[in-house]
Amino acid sequence: MRKKIAAGNWKMNLDLQEAQKLVSEVLHMSQDEYQGEGLVMFGPSFPFLPSVVHLTKDHPKVMVAAQNMHHEPKGAYTGEISGAMLNSVGVSHVILGHSERRQYFGEDNALLAAKIDQAFSYGLEVVYCFGETLDHREAGKTLEVVRSQVEEGTFHVSGADYGQVILAYEPVWAIGTGKTATPAQAQEVHSYVRGLLTEKYGAEIADNTTILYGGSVKPGNAAELFSQGDIDGGLIGGASLKSRDFVDILKAL
Ligand code: PGA
Repeated sequence: MRKKIAAGNWKMNLDLQEAQKLVSEVLHMSQDEYQGEGLVMFGPSFPFLPSVVHLTKDHPKVMVAAQNMHHEPKGAYTGEISGAMLNSVGVSHVILGHSERRQYFGEDNALLAAKIDQAFSYGLEVVYCFGETLDHREAGKTLEVVRSQVEEGTFHVSGADYGQVILAYEPVWAIGTGKTATPAQAQEVHSYVRGLLTEKYGAEIADNTTILYGGSVKPGNAAELFSQGDIDGGLIGGASLKSRDFVDILKAL
């Protein structure tokens, strides 16, 4: 089912106390101020996951996502985290393929496809990120790049399982830069991706897939982005670290 989601990607920020405070504030403020159907997703760093799962356990409209996961089930991979580990602490989702993982840790579409399979085998749902760099966009290659990332990363997933995939379009040039894609630029890519899904899986699955936008989403631009027909919410970095901003973005759903 297509959902509306405000997802926070905290990246490598906050300590445990700050993380707990942020979650408590968001839960309180959203309970008081937001009665809509939108869902919240928190994306804390690994050490805080059990605590955030605990704090949110009585909140059915709140999900908890890890920011990464290894593609092997277990073994001699010092410093890595498996799907089984995430599942065992009650995490429901994992963010895969963020551009920072692709850029700084060399993750490519084939590796991400393997991570998706691994996530599914532990019952984790996936937020799969993709998006072009500024060079790609200026060379007119945006749709081509987006197509290969979505196809090579996720099109091995069966139609029956595609409901466990949330897509997140994050143009690299808009992440953390203060430059947001215009609603029309984002909508163009979202509708293109939904078209790819229609070709591959048919209209029903395409229509049921949640496609988030990420890249400098703020309270001031969220409503216009989310009003586009194929944008189902946001994957939010910087603004998700401030409870006021994050709840205002949620309310824009
Ligand atoms: P930003 O990050 O909102 O700080 O641009 C978005 C993301 O990287 O998911």
